Amino acid sequence: MHWAPIRKKAEWWTTRPNLLNYQQTVASFSWDDVRRHCAGLPGGKGLNIAHEAVDRHATGPMGSSLALRWLGRDGTSRDFTYDNLREQSNRFANLLANLGIGKGDTVAVLADRIPDIYIAALGTFKNTSVFCPLFAAFGPEPVFQRLLRGDARLLVTTERQYRQKVSSLRTLLPKLQVVLLVDVGDHLADDLLSLPRLMAESSTTFSIPPTSPEDVAVLHFTSGTTGMPKGAIHVHNALLVHYVTGAYVLDFHPGDVFWCTADPGWVTGTSYGIIAPLLHGITNIVDEADFDAVRWCENLQNQKVSVWYTAPTAIRRLMRLGIAPAKDYDLSRLRVIHSVGEPLNPEAVVWGQEALGLPIHDNWWQTETGGIMIANYPGMDIKPGSMGRPLPGIEAAIVRRTDQGFVEVIEELDLQGDLALKPGWPSMFRGYLHDEERYRKCFVGGWYLTGDLARRDGDGYFWFVGRADDIIKTSGHMVGPFEVESTLMEHPAVAEAGVIGKPDPLIGELVKAFVSLKPGRQPSDEMRLELIGFARKRLGSAVAPKEIEFHQNLPKNKAGKIMRRLLRARELGLPEGDLSTLEDSS
Ligand code: ATP
Ligand code: MG
Repeated sequence: MHWAPIRKKAEWWTTRPNLLNYQQTVASFSWDDVRRHCAGLPGGKGLNIAHEAVDRHATGPMGSSLALRWLGRDGTSRDFTYDNLREQSNRFANLLANLGIGKGDTVAVLADRIPDIYIAALGTFKNTSVFCPLFAAFGPEPVFQRLLRGDARLLVTTERQYRQKVSSLRTLLPKLQVVLLVDVGDHLADDLLSLPRLMAESSTTFSIPPTSPEDVAVLHFTSGTTGMPKGAIHVHNALLVHYVTGAYVLDFHPGDVFWCTADPGWVTGTSYGIIAPLLHGITNIVDEADFDAVRWCENLQNQKVSVWYTAPTAIRRLMRLGIAPAKDYDLSRLRVIHSVGEPLNPEAVVWGQEALGLPIHDNWWQTETGGIMIANYPGMDIKPGSMGRPLPGIEAAIVRRTDQGFVEVIEELDLQGDLALKPGWPSMFRGYLHDEERYRKCFVGGWYLTGDLARRDGDGYFWFVGRADDIIKTSGHMVGPFEVESTLMEHPAVAEAGVIGKPDPLIGELVKAFVSLKPGRQPSDEMRLELIGFARKRLGSAVAPKEIEFHQNLPKNKAGKIMRRLLRARELGLPEGDLSTLEDSS
């Protein structure tokens, strides 16, 4: 099915003056110009994320404006002004320094989205230590693996998390010097301390030490969709990308209320759930609770959210419920909606327009890229099903590997190949921790190979095809799972689909789909035949699935991504591999 582009008004950028003039900057973009929008540390002592995100606002007229509103699971809420954040993060930075945690030391956090982890992140940046967020829902083994591989020296967590997941393995973590518990009033042992008590005892003034833009700021483990998670290393200079994408893509303007639904346990929840909105001095909403359709609609309405950043899995869950929030709630403040993490099927983009009153802007990036790289930004036409165009300052290409071990750029349009980026953008990862070899292999012939396959059209829009690992080779065709999944999701009965290749002696691989149906729809042989027929009509028989299996839930990781490698392993009776990021409910 052909999805018409959603046209944007040409005067958009002129009627909405932005921090950076988009039209001018596209032509003559330079990261140095962006750097000039940063304050820099006092006395020319470098560039520090927390100074840009908090202190420079706190010390000016914006000190009393709302920086972070935290919505508790139990209905309570807490507000932090920029000045509050400055004081609290100063306390945290001081306590780190007092404990002997210094530059380059890893500070891990393992907790739900509670205010402490946001304060810990900012305090860690100030102390030039390395912030390493872990999903609260990880079990003991993944927590242990990440603490070990991340060389964590300090952990911030809750008493329950500590007892359940860390205490029994503590002796195997010799580098883990101290654990801070957020929910105990007094120290429990010399190396098991009360965070509230230390915070109360620490000074609210802190002078950020000289910070080189190349100093390490964040250690982020990837989502583990395709295998063992990798620890991507990010530096303070990444903030230039958070700043630019906050302006161009997320369209932050003074007075905006921004809600990013991602957990800091995956990179969106850190780059955009903490850093980018604060860099722009706007209000950042954090909801402790997980997805709940009613609660989320209420948040959008009651918090007067103007910019919303979420993920396809959440959008599809709303779609599945068949609701139209714009009718039942006052979403008049909502101006832009963005999605990331997985391909967004075109139907969902259009659904947004009807049900939420706005189309959904898809954008693409990875843990490794540190920030948004390709996007349908608000100023341009949206092509439903496309990831959009590369940001100013980002050079993206479709390349193919040559037999000689090089890569060549595919200049022809609409041809599928490896999605590659020209290295050099500020938020590019600086390594995989303890895996130099793997890092080196990502760069070939002057390009960073993303591991994703895509196409580029005549308007410069990029179209996601699939992860290189997930591509299906059937009867001489290369089939991207996304295309088949999107088509299946256009059928009114289908809520979600995951597509894999299953080895077949005749055709190489056979396209097999795992499908979850919308409430009220029953799996049956008729339904199976109907879906196969439906897909054949649209995709042709070579690409349409030959087999369909119904599942109530598809296996997803904690970032909400369908784990096709697991569907495939289960189908073929192969070892399931690393399951540390698998969502429990699946
Ligand atoms: P791992 O690398 O451990 O397998 P992961 O790749 O899922 O995990 P992330 O860095 O969180 O870890 O995810 C980035 C990947 O998510 C991208 O490489 C791409 O495959 C997918 N992705 C992100 N955004 C989009 C998008 N808008 N459209 C399509 N795919 C996307
Ligand atoms: Mg990846």
